[in-house]
Amino acid sequence: MWKKFKGYFSNDIAIDLGTANTLVYVRDRGIVINEPSVVALKQDSKTVLAVGIEAKKMLGRTPGSIKAIRPMKSGVISDFDVAEQMIRYFIKKAQKNKLRKPRVIIAVPGDITGVEKRAVKESAINAGARDVYLIEEPMAAAIGVDMPVGEPRGNMIVDIGGGTTDVALISLAGIVYAQSVRVGGDAMDEVIAQYMRRMYNLMIGESTAEDIKIRIGSAYPVEQEYEMEVRGRDNVNGLPRTLTITSKEIREALQEPVSQIVDAVRNCLEKSPPELAADLLDRGIVLAGGGSMLTGLDQLISEQTGLLVHRPDSPLEAVAEGAGKVLEDLDVLHNQGLN
Ligand code: ADP
Ligand code: MG
Repeated sequence: MWKKFKGYFSNDIAIDLGTANTLVYVRDRGIVINEPSVVALKQDSKTVLAVGIEAKKMLGRTPGSIKAIRPMKSGVISDFDVAEQMIRYFIKKAQKNKLRKPRVIIAVPGDITGVEKRAVKESAINAGARDVYLIEEPMAAAIGVDMPVGEPRGNMIVDIGGGTTDVALISLAGIVYAQSVRVGGDAMDEVIAQYMRRMYNLMIGESTAEDIKIRIGSAYPVEQEYEMEVRGRDNVNGLPRTLTITSKEIREALQEPVSQIVDAVRNCLEKSPPELAADLLDRGIVLAGGGSMLTGLDQLISEQTGLLVHRPDSPLEAVAEGAGKVLEDLDVLHNQGLN
């Protein structure tokens, strides 16, 4: 009986508003939603047709009258109205108890502007939130993977998402240095599509490029190379065509975005105060985000920095887990005046 009541009163929500995926964590229930950050709209009337999984299925497959949009795509909000519709949809879907308005924590990119912050807060209020708090994604990710962020020691987190890679150095529960670069999983997909066009005159869509990356992509030489059959449209005669590619070629194609990610990590290390940088010799670097699952990326970063690199078991969930943990302490934070 008490259990039932517990669920009834605590419907506070934490949202990881990612460029590729949105996750929603409900207090006492954990992550209840994990869907692509995609909205499908009617071109003329802007009516929302689908959000999340259903909308992603339409990406690249829409007729002229329908548009599938990723409102958070490049780490900035490209379309406020669409972003608001998406936030509203996810909050509604996560809520069991519709009588009491939830308090909401939203994890946002570290370099989001003041205008965007206000827009995100307003969207959540419009979508039915009672209070809205924002937390920076790298901080949420670090809490999510259990880094001891409160200690006076250097903790480095590298969150490789769809649109951006965020590198942050954290000590005493604050961000000492952070950098966000517009390179992540999407850029990897793009270079794979470009490669297929340049080498084979084969046009492929973003979903196919992502599939290639996930199945045979790598950042570091692998013990066994793989092959994969790819389907697309021949650019010369316009007909559908199948061909076989190897993991070695894809690794070469991925070199540019992968080295930009490594450079961002090295750059953050160079900007770190010496004492905190020295701490990393013991603790290493922790990765988060779906892009960190690229085979061998951990090995490459380790080789290029000389530091240990850890990848958690569920890097895609780190931000939502971290924001969710903060949610459990919301009453404390509220008194501390978290924005
Ligand atoms: P965001 O926080 O920006 O929404 P996510 O952390 O959800 O991003 O990561 C999404 C990215 O991770 C996508 O580009 C996706 O293709 C990529 N990804 C997911 N799984 C893998 C995998 N096994 N290997 C490589 N990339 C992956
Ligand atoms: Mg993310």
